[in-house]
Amino acid sequence: MNIANWLHDQARCHPQRPALFHGAEQVADYRAFADHAATIGGLLRERHGVVPGDRVALFMKNGVDYLPLMHGIWWTGAVVVPVNAKLHAAEAAWIAGNAESKLVITDDGRTFQNPSLESGVELAAGDLVASGTPTARTQPPHPRRAEDLAWLFYTSGTTGRSKGVMLSHGNLVAMALCYPVDVEPVTGDDALLYAAPMSHGAGLYNFIFVRAGARHVLPVSRGFDAAEVLDLARRLDRVSLFAAPTMVKRMVAEARRQGEHGEGLKSVVYGGAPMYTADIREALSVLGPRFIQIYGQGESPMTITALDRRRIADHEAPDWERHLASVGRAQSCVDVRVVDAQMRPLPPGESGEVVVRGLTVMAGYWRNDDASRDTLVDGWLRTGDIGFLDEQGFLTLTDRSKDVIISGGTNIYPREVEEVLAQHPAITEVSVIGERDPEWGEIVVAFVVADDNIKAEELNLWFSERMASFKKPKKYYFRDDLPKNSYGKILKTELRKQLEVLSDGTVS
Ligand code: AMP
Repeated sequence: MNIANWLHDQARCHPQRPALFHGAEQVADYRAFADHAATIGGLLRERHGVVPGDRVALFMKNGVDYLPLMHGIWWTGAVVVPVNAKLHAAEAAWIAGNAESKLVITDDGRTFQNPSLESGVELAAGDLVASGTPTARTQPPHPRRAEDLAWLFYTSGTTGRSKGVMLSHGNLVAMALCYPVDVEPVTGDDALLYAAPMSHGAGLYNFIFVRAGARHVLPVSRGFDAAEVLDLARRLDRVSLFAAPTMVKRMVAEARRQGEHGEGLKSVVYGGAPMYTADIREALSVLGPRFIQIYGQGESPMTITALDRRRIADHEAPDWERHLASVGRAQSCVDVRVVDAQMRPLPPGESGEVVVRGLTVMAGYWRNDDASRDTLVDGWLRTGDIGFLDEQGFLTLTDRSKDVIISGGTNIYPREVEEVLAQHPAITEVSVIGERDPEWGEIVVAFVVADDNIKAEELNLWFSERMASFKKPKKYYFRDDLPKNSYGKILKTELRKQLEVLSDGTVS
């Protein structure tokens, strides 16, 4: 089935239910939302020749047009390629090109030169959104099978290049159906607030709330502003949101500042990066029992494990602290195992790689058979995360086998940062790692061997001209050489030890 059927269905059964909100102001009911999507779908087909299976990239910040555009693309049977709006135009162009996108839709008329987009067209969202008249309402979404591609989710690989995770309509349906079973039930009175980028987790959750005929709230800031989130929750009531641990920390600090306790906030679903126990305790003490944790990755979107509200909040339960440090138990449509290097299951308590099999697991990476073969082994997805299970099936993540840096819930891959810095003529060697940070979880830091006279400011400028600023190193450590093993490979483990010593203040 086409995932857009749920929107079509809501519009037929509950046309007047409030659907889209710009801040606290309603801008569309379900009929208008679905009409809009169907009209966009019609325009894409008739004016731009989009046919089922074509890829259409969205390079946009969160906003009220995002959901109608996404659903409009699905209405035609085409595939959405959401691109994180924080990426540099060159990175976005690379993704759009790799996906062989027929169209790239931007929200502010941003254009990007991209030789690989020869036949592609760039389009400002306003052209589509403003020019349609609602005529195609009666036309249902183009039929799709469960295995047909719906969403190309671009993540980064350890090789430094993004990979397109192929998510089918069936994967998305399974993800959405797990939510009421494993996270919490949703009704038509609820609201989903999109404070994290809609190109990732926040956007993935839209289906659940469409299916329930609930409200979709797009912050006026088009991003995350803790005061705005608390204000919208107060005004709209029964508001849920997906938030990275960094966002939770900021909400807690803001609530504390205002003497607020999260009135109107139904639940905060957190995940995407480790949540430190001290932080979730603080969050519970300020905002109360409103938290649910999920662990997922693009390759099994939002759906590997979940830790429910009661387990998180019930501090009198005997295993509370242990459960709080875990990411919960397998969601209902997946099997989760911890395995050794030969993929053999390990007994409870033993650490190994977390692997997942089930209805949400991707079909593979777009046009990348080698990476697909390495990652999917006999139907099991190798997550690259290290952890252990207990007797009851609670999973605790201990480490990441890859060197990904997670800063504020966003994955940053050191290799691509290193490649940009390594291009600078004054730099001879570079290695990038994450440094623990109380606010961001981790920050990007670079160890460099460079000409004496080079300054951090100059490197920052070099970087800003080439890559998104959130990937820019926050600190540079200048060295005469970098530690290496006998094969000449730089030892990141040694660099991490150096950082620990530095933060102890023992050595400078
Ligand atoms: P992404 O594919 O961008 O969603 O990143 C997925 C990665 O984020 C996972 O493989 C984990 O390393 C990390 N992650 C996701 N959820 C959690 C969580 N609840 N706790 C700790 N790490 C997490």
